[in-house]
Amino acid sequence: MKFYIENIPNHIWNSSNKVLLAKDIKPATETIITISNELIDNIWLLIKLGLENDGIGFAATQTGIQKKLFVIEDPTDLSNPCWIPYINPSYYRLNSEMDCCLEGCLSVPDAQISVSRPKNIVGQWKGITSSSTNNPISLKHKREKLNPLFGRCFQHEHDHLMGISILDKSIIQP
Ligand SMILES: [Zn+2]
Repeated sequence: MKFYIENIPNHIWNSSNKVLLAKDIKPATETIITISNELIDNIWLLIKLGLENDGIGFAATQTGIQKKLFVIEDPTDLSNPCWIPYINPSYYRLNSEMDCCLEGCLSVPDAQISVSRPKNIVGQWKGITSSSTNNPISLKHKREKLNPLFGRCFQHEHDHLMGISILDKSIIQP
């Protein structure tokens, strides 16, 4: 299920949550079991923080919510901007190929850091689906091979859930 930014609730716009600096981010401790109003509010809050800070992804731990959850902007339809939540995410590599790119991070202000990551990964997560009539909103397991750019973003946000930032991944220049 996509979350369209035009639907962000008013009480989320009024929230006072801040973006934590990388050094203050702790690993996520909470696996998400069910969908609750609190979870939906968490998702909207991450989208709001990503949006107002010009990010394309945002992890729950970046604002002190210790849940295994991040959101990434859906690049497929920019005329109607929306974001997608990734719940209890993980990934595995398809091969040993690596790729090095400059990355920025809302928790590492004003820095662009060169980060080497696996190029070809399969992402796994729980998505929110509203397809079934008996159970209008439920968690559904997803598994997809991710294109290299999206896979990099997925790994960056997944790192935040482990308490890792691009500062920990930077390649030391001689
Ligand atoms: Zn980041």
